[in-house]
Amino acid sequence: MPIDVANDTPEIALKKLKARENAWHRLENVSNLGSWEVDLKTNRSLWSRRSYEIYGYEPYSVTPTLELFFKHLLPQYHQEAKTKMQEGIRSQKAITFKGRVRRNDGEILDILINAQVITNEKGEPSKLIGTTQDITEYMRIKRSSQELLEIIERSFQEIYIIDKDFRFLYVNEGAVKRTGYSKEEFQKMDIFDINPYLTFKQAKEIEARVLKRELAINRTIHKTKDGEEYPVQTNLQKIVYNEKDAYLLFDSDISELQRLEDELYYQAYHDALTNLPNRIYFEERLKEEVIYSRRNKTRFALLLIDLDRFKEINDTLGHQFGDEVLVETAKRIKRALRAIDMFARLGGDEFTIILRDVKKPKNAQKVAQKIHDVIREPFLLAQKEFFLSCSIGISIFPDDTEDVAELVKFADTAMYDAKRKGKDGFCFYDKQMTKLAQERISLEHDLRRAIENKGFDVYFQPQIDARGKKLVGVEALVRWRRGNDTIVYPDSFIPFAQEVGLITQIDRIVMEKAIKHFLYWNKKGVVIPKLSLNLATKQLLQEDFLEYILDFSKEVGFDLSKLELELTESDLMHDPKRSIAMLERLRQSGIKIAMDDFGTGYSSLAYLKKLPLHLIKIDKSFILDLVDEVESQEIVKTILVLALSLRFEIIAEGVESKEHEELLCSMGCYMMQGYYYSKPVDAHVFGEYMTSLERK
Ligand code: C2E
Ligand code: MG
Ligand code: MG
Repeated sequence: MPIDVANDTPEIALKKLKARENAWHRLENVSNLGSWEVDLKTNRSLWSRRSYEIYGYEPYSVTPTLELFFKHLLPQYHQEAKTKMQEGIRSQKAITFKGRVRRNDGEILDILINAQVITNEKGEPSKLIGTTQDITEYMRIKRSSQELLEIIERSFQEIYIIDKDFRFLYVNEGAVKRTGYSKEEFQKMDIFDINPYLTFKQAKEIEARVLKRELAINRTIHKTKDGEEYPVQTNLQKIVYNEKDAYLLFDSDISELQRLEDELYYQAYHDALTNLPNRIYFEERLKEEVIYSRRNKTRFALLLIDLDRFKEINDTLGHQFGDEVLVETAKRIKRALRAIDMFARLGGDEFTIILRDVKKPKNAQKVAQKIHDVIREPFLLAQKEFFLSCSIGISIFPDDTEDVAELVKFADTAMYDAKRKGKDGFCFYDKQMTKLAQERISLEHDLRRAIENKGFDVYFQPQIDARGKKLVGVEALVRWRRGNDTIVYPDSFIPFAQEVGLITQIDRIVMEKAIKHFLYWNKKGVVIPKLSLNLATKQLLQEDFLEYILDFSKEVGFDLSKLELELTESDLMHDPKRSIAMLERLRQSGIKIAMDDFGTGYSSLAYLKKLPLHLIKIDKSFILDLVDEVESQEIVKTILVLALSLRFEIIAEGVESKEHEELLCSMGCYMMQGYYYSKPVDAHVFGEYMTSLERK
């Protein structure tokens, strides 16, 4: 309400004035404006409430002056403020001024002043009136966004803003530096100019992703102005720029990251020694190969290669040497393959090959042959020449199986079969093999059980002096009761037991049982001059064997001079040097040594002379052919001469008939063993047999 100068009492006029001031003050608060005026003649000022508050005073608590204002204005703004004021007074135009003040409480504020000169009736400037606005908050935001912009601009990362047509709206210095294009050049370019492999369709797809999820991460290749290409990871984001929809791109050069990634990938998938793909890589490729072959209806071969006797090389010549052999082997095999074949090292001395697109299994055979040839060439390492061989197993997809795991298993079975057949060979998988492998597993299992239960029987076969039909000894022969009533003969499990390392345990069981029977007969008064036991050479080479046999015989009261150990010729000749030493120690303990199956192995005369032998057993194959074959007769005669000159006793095994007996006697061989006298029989039957001999 306006003041009525004529009618309003001073009180009413004052009230009205107060009301006006309050309203004004509310307005000031809302707009954050403080108003003021300065009398240019007297320098006296009037401040509104808000003005006081801006400078940190209680309203009307001080006398406002121009000096007071300058006291609060930071010194660096004084000059500018004075200049602006003079200019405003001179030109009588509105002025604005931005500066900073220190409030009474020490806080610094940003202020914006708008002012205008007022003239008196004569047109002379009399007052300066204006407003002061606290713009601290606005300036803070402005300053920090300035800083942000600066950071973005200076970033080493490439930062772009593009419009919906993929044209550049903004690029930062990082982008300019890395790509070599200037900001001006960028104004005329779009993203396809720096992304040579990006198609419009791809760009649209990425855009769709951004629109759906607001953010998209993408890998691409950038090309600089000079033509250099480098991998980039882009983070895309939808933004509003200059009031229009746009995209913000943060691009980082990931060359180094990619190199590291590549290196890690390589390490994870390759064998460090040979640089060949490793098992993980192989397994992945194998799966892919199966998919490929199914789709294209092709077949592929899986070859599993294992070096023969590699363990020996490693153990005797050292690991470093072994490593060199593996590296050289890898090189050689690689040379024998086509580029499309996958060649990997599975570990140790095991390698594998996937032969792609083999038309016929025969082609796989050719490759296997080629590998054999390259491995067989002499290795020259550390100035030494030596020879290697390998065994290869082959399975074929899809002929053998369509199952990946089975395919590998089959190749392995085939490889194992190749090893069993004497190494340095290759084998294709056939179904029979799995059956065989399974049989081997159950055989080993059953054998172990039999060993635990001592489930072996000892049969006995007499040895006779034909001149007076006198018993000169008895040979113990093992029988295995597998299951309840199947009797398994030694030829079907002894070689296997040798292979899997169970023979020494079996031999000890037989030895103990045979000696106990022997002692029992002795006690009954049946005198048997000698007990022959078959022994695997492996047993001989056991460190504790001599000790064991001495202990056992002492324990049961068995006279070792009654014991004869039969070792087969081929087994003994395997490692004659080591055997000789052991045999010598056995002989010193009174034990007799016989060479079994003589004539079937390849005894060297030199060793034969050195072996502390007592007796030679002519193999039954010669005796069985004796009647019909002159050749066998010649061999037997030769053996007899040899035995005589080396002072070995001699016994013929496999004597089945009277003819055999007579012929042998005519040649001067009198000791015999064979069905003609008795088949091997169990202890009970043998006991009766001997009593009948005694009665004769
Ligand atoms: P070996 O030591 O040469 O034993 C002689 C083999 O010829 C025995 O076969 C015996 O039954 C057989 N035989 C005996 N007389 C005749 C005959 O007149 N005609 C024919 N055709 N054969 C005859 P067996 O018992 O099957 O043993 C086979 C081989 O198994 C043995 O040959 C021996 O090398 C091995 N062996 C047997 N028992 C053991 C044992 O406890 N430990 C070890 N390590 N090997 C054993
Ligand atoms: Mg024997
Ligand atoms: Mg024999």
